[in-house]
Amino acid sequence: MQTILIIEDEEPIRELIKLNLSLVGYKTLEAGDGNEGLKLIKNEKIDLVLLDLMLPGIDGFEILPELIKKKIPTIILTARDGLKDKVKGLEMGADDYITKPFEAIELLARVKAVLRRSGKDNSVIVFDNIEIHLEQHKVFKDGQEVELTYKEFELLRLLAENMGMVMSREKLLQLVWDYDYEGYTRTVDMHIQRLRNKLGTDKIKTIYKVGYRLEA
Ligand code: CA
Repeated sequence: MQTILIIEDEEPIRELIKLNLSLVGYKTLEAGDGNEGLKLIKNEKIDLVLLDLMLPGIDGFEILPELIKKKIPTIILTARDGLKDKVKGLEMGADDYITKPFEAIELLARVKAVLRRSGKDNSVIVFDNIEIHLEQHKVFKDGQEVELTYKEFELLRLLAENMGMVMSREKLLQLVWDYDYEGYTRTVDMHIQRLRNKLGTDKIKTIYKVGYRLEA
C-alpha cells in the first residue's frame, strides 16, 4: 500500500483529499502546517506528497527542497490565481500541480500518473522464478516465501533495481549499511553468499575485483 502525505492547512480540503485517496486504497498521513509536515517527512516512509504552497509558518516553498533532496514525488496544490506560485514550484522541481478547487477524478489521475512516472508502482520485480515484492518487503521463489533479513532484502532490492548493471562492493556497502570503509566489504560478500543459498539462484554473478551483478 502506498502512503501519501497531505500537507494542507485548510481542514475541509485536507479531509476531502484524504477521503478520496482512502477510497481507492491509499494510506494517508496528514499535516495541518509546515512543521508537522516536515516531522512526518523525516520519520515516515512516504511515497508521494500533496503539498499546499500557502501554509502558516513554514510554507510549501521551504518544504519543497527537502522533498526533492529525499526524492519524494510531490504534487503542489495551488490557488486558482496562483500562476506565479505554480511556475515557481514546478521550476523548483515539483512533479506536478493541482489547482484548487479540483475534482476527485483529476486528483486521482495525477497522483497515479506521478507515482507511475516515479517508478513507485513497479512494486514487483521478477527474475529466475523469483518475485521481489518491494512494498511488502517479501520475496517468493516458485510461489513460496523466502525468509530474508532486512539487510539481505535491501541488498537484493538494490541489485534487482539495477538489473544487469555491476554494483561495486563499496557502493552496496554504502547504500545498504551506510558504511564508507573498504575493509568491511567482506560483509557484502557474506550476505551475497547467503542470498544465493536462500534463493537457490545463480543469477547473482560475481564480477571479479569489482562487485556483483544480477542477471535477468
Ligand atoms: Ca493554504
